[in-house]
Amino acid sequence: MSDALALAIADDARLAGVAAEAGEPRYRVTQIRQAAWRGGAAGFEAMTLLPAALRDHLGARLRFGVLTEVATRTADRGLTHKLLLRAADGQTVETVAMTYPARPPAHPRRTVCVSTQVGCAVGCAFCATGQLGLRRHLTAAEITDQVLIAGRAWHGAGLPPASHVVYMGMGEPLQNYQPTLDSVRALIRWGVAARRITISTSGIVPAIDRLATERLPLRLAISLHAVDDDLRTRLVPINARYPLADCLAAGVRYAAASGRRLSLEYVLIAGVNDRPQDALGLRRLAEQTGAHVNLIPMNRIPGSDLATPSPPQVRQFAAAVGGRASVRFSRGDQAAAACGQLRAELVPRPAQLARAARRLRLPVG
Ligand code: SAH
Ligand code: SF4
Repeated sequence: MSDALALAIADDARLAGVAAEAGEPRYRVTQIRQAAWRGGAAGFEAMTLLPAALRDHLGARLRFGVLTEVATRTADRGLTHKLLLRAADGQTVETVAMTYPARPPAHPRRTVCVSTQVGCAVGCAFCATGQLGLRRHLTAAEITDQVLIAGRAWHGAGLPPASHVVYMGMGEPLQNYQPTLDSVRALIRWGVAARRITISTSGIVPAIDRLATERLPLRLAISLHAVDDDLRTRLVPINARYPLADCLAAGVRYAAASGRRLSLEYVLIAGVNDRPQDALGLRRLAEQTGAHVNLIPMNRIPGSDLATPSPPQVRQFAAAVGGRASVRFSRGDQAAAACGQLRAELVPRPAQLARAARRLRLPVG
């Protein structure tokens, strides 16, 4: 059965059409969505509110899921679940489901971090996914299904489905543009507000401009990691093609078009991008672009000497950047939760690291 028939991305018209084939009225669409989204149904057969004949027909016409769970790790005393998921062709990707308890006046959040590719072509020096190179793009159904699967894990714990989705897992979403956008629209149909969806990118300038034309109030995060082109090109090789100033200009255009404040992500790497001049440069860029800065102490990855600064160094750096910065510790360090790490641990990988490191002139173990 083709990807277009996956439940994850089926629109209401398609679902209504399938229900009609079974002689069922349109309100069945709402029931199907509720059973799959809030009801934790793990298959059409579990949608017990529906007549048995409709369940059978749905099973014949649609694929319920396109990914299956192969491993789960739990961390942060149960607040973080890291899932390793397998596609029909055997490729595996990671999804992280994170719960944030209510801190009044803030409501509780349930955030899913989704992958958009198996591996990634950008090849950032500190990233386990980048070490893989690009294996393949994920389909829109494979991206969206990750959020449904995370919702089922939460359902088992008595929690509602995702309130937020961040495109910060494996892969570069803007190098897999159409499936990424199709998945965003599918998630909106499932009930995730566009304002609660964040696309994170290493800075694919033409795709950022294209995103601005979609007229969706998505949040955009640009992964900066350096404040000068020389260092940024070594950390994020695509910077040679889309230099820092161009990325930031595109980010500012996007913010103007979408009405959403830009975010800048900055992974802190000891002795590489955590100098006082980096903090001051970052402060200046944040002021110029009106962006909020998320500082992420690097998670160590296998085979690399790149390391995270000490907590006092992180605090000092954050203080120097000033009020526009907050420190985000990666959720689930114990669960190998940083991008691509669980997969790197559980799936044998080619020996690409040393080659990549030589190219980038960075120290590697
Ligand atoms: N490709 C996109 C989205 C996926 S990566 C991008 O680069 O923005 C999502 C975030 O995880 C990026 O900000 C990336 O820098 C960060 N990340 C990757 N490896 C990491 C590591 N080892 N430790 C901490 N953050 C990491
Ligand atoms: Fe790709 Fe993002 Fe990892 Fe860089 S940080 S290699 S862009 S997934």
